Amino acid sequence: MPRETETHADIPFGPEDTPWQKTFSGLRVVGGRPYGTPPSSDPRTAYIGVPEVPHHKVQLPPTGLDPEQYTEAEELFRRHIDTQTRNFAGYQVTSALDYEARLGHYLNRHLNNVGDPYQSSSYTLNSKVLERAVLDYFASLWHAKWPHDPQDPESYWGYVLTMGSSEGNLYGLWNARDYLSGKPLRTHPGRPDRAAFEQARRGEGPHAYHPVAFFSEDTHYSLTKAVRALDIDTFHALGSTRYPDENPLAPGTPWPREVPSTEHGAIDIEQLALLVRFFASRGYPILVSLNYGSTFKGAYDDVETVADTVRAICAEYGLDNRSVPRDRDRGTDSDGDQRSGFWLHVDGALGAGYAPYLEMARDAGMVEQAPPAFDFRIPDVHSLTMSGHKWMGTPWACGVFMTRTGLQMAPPRSSEYIGAADTTFAGSRNGFSSLLMWDYLARHSYDDQARLAAECDGLAAYTHEQLLLLQQQLGHDLWVARSPQSLTVRFRQPHADIVRRYSLSSETVHVQGAARAYVHLYAMRHLTRQRVDELIGELRQPGAFPLAPPADSTAGQRLPQ
Ligand SMILES: *Cc1c(COP(=O)(O)O)cnc(C)c1O
Repeated sequence: MPRETETHADIPFGPEDTPWQKTFSGLRVVGGRPYGTPPSSDPRTAYIGVPEVPHHKVQLPPTGLDPEQYTEAEELFRRHIDTQTRNFAGYQVTSALDYEARLGHYLNRHLNNVGDPYQSSSYTLNSKVLERAVLDYFASLWHAKWPHDPQDPESYWGYVLTMGSSEGNLYGLWNARDYLSGKPLRTHPGRPDRAAFEQARRGEGPHAYHPVAFFSEDTHYSLTKAVRALDIDTFHALGSTRYPDENPLAPGTPWPREVPSTEHGAIDIEQLALLVRFFASRGYPILVSLNYGSTFKGAYDDVETVADTVRAICAEYGLDNRSVPRDRDRGTDSDGDQRSGFWLHVDGALGAGYAPYLEMARDAGMVEQAPPAFDFRIPDVHSLTMSGHKWMGTPWACGVFMTRTGLQMAPPRSSEYIGAADTTFAGSRNGFSSLLMWDYLARHSYDDQARLAAECDGLAAYTHEQLLLLQQQLGHDLWVARSPQSLTVRFRQPHADIVRRYSLSSETVHVQGAARAYVHLYAMRHLTRQRVDELIGELRQPGAFPLAPPADSTAGQRLPQ
């Protein structure tokens, strides 16, 4: 029990600075004592403040806020968010949204897409009919076989995420782990070929069902979290513990944590190949997660070349296609399936949402180049994820996960309670997100999207040129760079005030051993040349860039991330 001291119960609370213990209505003061625990220190000083929204104005006393207090608090918050929205430039998220007039109605409707999107559920307040339309749209855009058909292993399967690509990555890696570990598939084709499976069993090495994960140093932090949550060994973990002196990239030196990237942020395929070969030759199944639009540099991994490379290496060691007995543990079942000994997941949080349109724009002669292919045209792509709030722009996180039906794992158990198979990650799923994506896609044709993609590409190029010009004018290296076809331009971190007002996101990038503090800007649909010019104007002011170069002096050191 926390001890109540008078000081704590007296802490000023809420818009009127009322002592906390006096903020109760009569009913809740039970026997003269307030219900619940008093604050143990002043929350106004315990948290990071937002100067525009004073904490005491939004604190929630047990009585709630009266209409005047509510109006004042909500206006403060609204003004703050509206200002930040106008200048929002640092993240790959579209903030020009236009849903309220059409969809406000549904804020008073409950929409829950619990369970498999293709099974109707007894939970009828759902938007699965729209979810399936959205999924079919992306299946076609990403060159998958559609519609989904539970009997056809080549057809796609997917679902709309309640989180963003972080959930898509988690789900993709979970599926990959179980697939490579030889767990039962959802649909078991059942090939009663005893000889093949017995031979497969005899040929299995000790690591045949021990997957090892590879991803580049430009990978989003959600991958690190996913491998930890799922207890998947990375090549770093396995290499450092089982083969400490055998790092194939530089024998005798410690294993790198992640696969090295090129300067532009794409995975270094030669180094990846060396690492994959090391583990494939020892019989470990291979799990590679690729970035299609890396978070900071906006780089596109060359998915097709990686797929060809990984498949070729795996083929040398019998990991391209293997027979997995249905019941490995008992070793009696002659039934089972054929599956690959590798899995390629594509994290297309931003890129999968807009690169197809940029490709259309290129084919129409509107832009010169588009990023390389990444989708189900490449037969070895096993799973793919995209965030709905990034390119399309939805007011909250959502996204799409997609794989092929034949790669789905059997769900943990059937779920009679919801009346649909429990094939997704969440329990309750956000049904409003499907409605938002459906609304956006219904109102934007391929032509519209190709135009928007070309405009954003043009704005990124413009921003890049203007920053290069500024760099020249200032006679000061601002480290301005844009990875090929990316929507982001990165440069030296300016003054904290500019960073905050434009919501520029920062990252330490290592360039030839030196740690440098960068920020980047994303040319999303809501950003205009005028805003870019304003920002450049501010960057031109004396003092915009702190004089001491932030991190160059720590050459050779790797800063903690
Ligand atoms: C943004 C991003 C994610 C995470 O997506 P959320 O929608 O924020 O969960 C994953 N990968 C990459 C490359 C990203 O840029």
